[in-house]
Amino acid sequence: MAIGARDDESRRATPAIQLVRLRKSFGEVVAVDDIDLEIHEGEFFSLLGPSGSGKTTVLRMIAGFEPPTGGAVLLQGTDVSQLAPYDRDVNTVFQDYALFPHMSVLENIEYGLKVKKVGKAERRPNQLSGGQRQRIALARALVNHPKVLLLDEPLGALDLKLREEMQVELKNIQRDVGITFVFVTHDQGEALSMSNRIAVFNNGRIEQVGTTREIYDNPATAFVAGFVGISNVLTARRSRELLGVEEPHSVRPERLRIVHHEIADGEVSVVGVVSDVQYLGADCRVRAQLDDGTFMVASVPSDGLAGVAIGGPIRLAWPRFAAFPVANTDISKGGDQ
Ligand code: ATP
Repeated sequence: MAIGARDDESRRATPAIQLVRLRKSFGEVVAVDDIDLEIHEGEFFSLLGPSGSGKTTVLRMIAGFEPPTGGAVLLQGTDVSQLAPYDRDVNTVFQDYALFPHMSVLENIEYGLKVKKVGKAERRPNQLSGGQRQRIALARALVNHPKVLLLDEPLGALDLKLREEMQVELKNIQRDVGITFVFVTHDQGEALSMSNRIAVFNNGRIEQVGTTREIYDNPATAFVAGFVGISNVLTARRSRELLGVEEPHSVRPERLRIVHHEIADGEVSVVGVVSDVQYLGADCRVRAQLDDGTFMVASVPSDGLAGVAIGGPIRLAWPRFAAFPVANTDISKGGDQ
């Protein structure tokens, strides 16, 4: 009994997916640059980054469609780097639905069973809407209960409203089936709305791995702060003036408020000139240029704009604790998006 219990424990502790110094180059281009990553069993995990940052290549190496140049892919602790895609307990859903147009809907779902030899038949996929097609692609990928489902921008071709519906649906399905989902997206909102954890990619490397909250509230680098939502990055010099720490800091626009009278205890503030006001319904974004030429964006309720005019003065304040140090990476080195 004790042995069985230990086996169970060790199985739980083994990551569903482990990438060990995983590398892929295409000639001169290093698409994936020696990355290490562990994805836990049952997680909804997103690979997030700009176009060209290496997310899809990582996914393809997990699936077995692309051989690594170096390093290894482990599934449930077993090195599968040399195994063919159909010998890995992994299925993939692609952006273009990857439905076979010559098959019926039922045949498409059954295809998943046929390739795994689990067993040996209306409308054709081109008669379905985008959302219906993607649901079928998903059903086909899930029908034989893979350990891991890989999703490569599966909602990219859908319009915004449908995409949002499908996000809720995908998350619910993942929760119900308990299968590990690895989801590739360049859309930070999508990643934040569905994931347990996120890896943020930049230039073939991972800048940060963390829960959605960690990534959003406490971005580790200036790149993450800039890519995941809008963030204000304070230069090292300004951080020293305001916070007494000579290291760049980030602060989210929604933590900023417009000061009409005095700043409160524990707050710091800057003064500038309003350069732009963008209405977004209940909230609006106020952009201010500071005396050193840099900009800060404040997200404030639309009914709190009294006295704010483009070209006019503005004072913005935020609690000290709302500013987080970020490593001084060069934001301009993002992907090619
Ligand atoms: P996207 O969202 O645009 O697909 P991505 O983050 O998934 O971007 P990858 O598709 O993994 O990025 O590409 C990473 C880098 O590798 C890019 O510079 C890309 O041009 C290059 N690359 C990918 N596949 C190949 C290939 N088959 N041959 C040559 N270069 C490739």
